[in-house]
Amino acid sequence: MKRAALTVALALTTLAAPAGARSVYVNAGRLVDVTKGIEKTGQCVLVEDARITRVEACTAPPPGAQVLDWSAYTVLPGLIDLHTHLADTGQSADVAAPLKTSPQATALIGAHNAKITLEAGFTTVRDVGTYRGLTDVALRDAIAGGMVPGPRMFVAGAYITAPGGGGELNGVVPNDQLPADMRLGVVHNAGEARERTEYLFAHGADFIKMIATGAVLAIGTEPGKIELSEDEMRAVVEVARAHGSYATAHAHGAEGIKAAIRAGVHSIEHASLIDDEGLAMAKKAGVWLVMDIYDGDWIDQQGTKEGWPEEYLRKNRETTEAQREGFAKALKQGVKLAFGTDAGVYPHGFNARQFGYMVRYGMTPAQAIRAATLDAATLIGHDKELGSIEPGKFADMIAVPGDPLVDVGALESAAHVMKAGAIVK
Ligand SMILES: [Zn+2]
Repeated sequence: MKRAALTVALALTTLAAPAGARSVYVNAGRLVDVTKGIEKTGQCVLVEDARITRVEACTAPPPGAQVLDWSAYTVLPGLIDLHTHLADTGQSADVAAPLKTSPQATALIGAHNAKITLEAGFTTVRDVGTYRGLTDVALRDAIAGGMVPGPRMFVAGAYITAPGGGGELNGVVPNDQLPADMRLGVVHNAGEARERTEYLFAHGADFIKMIATGAVLAIGTEPGKIELSEDEMRAVVEVARAHGSYATAHAHGAEGIKAAIRAGVHSIEHASLIDDEGLAMAKKAGVWLVMDIYDGDWIDQQGTKEGWPEEYLRKNRETTEAQREGFAKALKQGVKLAFGTDAGVYPHGFNARQFGYMVRYGMTPAQAIRAATLDAATLIGHDKELGSIEPGKFADMIAVPGDPLVDVGALESAAHVMKAGAIVK
């Protein structure tokens, strides 16, 4: 599967690349060095085909290069959101929406979401699960093949979840009557966890997403309650590692977080109710926390207005402020934090709204930007080619008005976006 996708990608690259490299000379008004957390002025970036080849004090552009004048803006690496749900219907008052939407329609909705996300300045996402299993794989491959505009995607394929757990579409029809593509990751024991993980990798998953505890936005589950056993999670982690990959765990509750860390996960999603012991364990094990500290406000406001299930609103109230306090504590204690927002819970494209919250809860703007660029690239194991504006890396860059190192709100209005050397906005 992977080999086939690679062959297609190589073939397209060959077709797209003429004899001489296409070069673009980008004049950056202010250029953000995310590694040092500083800005430099008077810098130009030479892009040849998909890659950055030079970053230098502006001089005469190379002959034949297209000159791009971004001198009125601050230029940063393309942003990375580690927790999106592009390939899904998105949250609404209608709990049955994912079932009423066919896999084919879901994929097309995903294409719409992908374009919006890219134009908002997010050139890479980690898409952490869809109710319609494998629609994310199809979307990733369509984007990689140049058929659909969107961010570079890393995808989970489906949720590894307990029956009736936070990764299932509960409360619509009896779960055993749901179509098979909605239950690809349902497991009853460690053996099934192993087998389902193998299945997802065989069908194109890049990593595995486990639902360790209940969810805010799933009927009949409680965020504080553990749902997958430590043995089941360990089985998933072992198989993921054997594939050269990793598992991340959706975990709100303190016990679920600790069990997931003991099982060997690479990152924890949400971490809403993490306790001091969990923070210490995450720090010691080098486990990343991806905490979506913006969307609680959206759920509370929009969910109340639109009449989302009262159970969702209650669970959201029980986790929102606790999660923000946990974020502040994690930051103070030096636990690794990377940027992920749960896009899909709120409308795609608003991803950058979370930066302001990260600053409000203790990060400097430079830290928040790094969490969504170099640190996010490090989490997914692609920091050699993504996450900063340096020679050799993919030419993923955005231009924003104002100075995001002073006001991170500037990141909410990307004026220009380049992905792998292609000007998309
Ligand atoms: Zn999510």
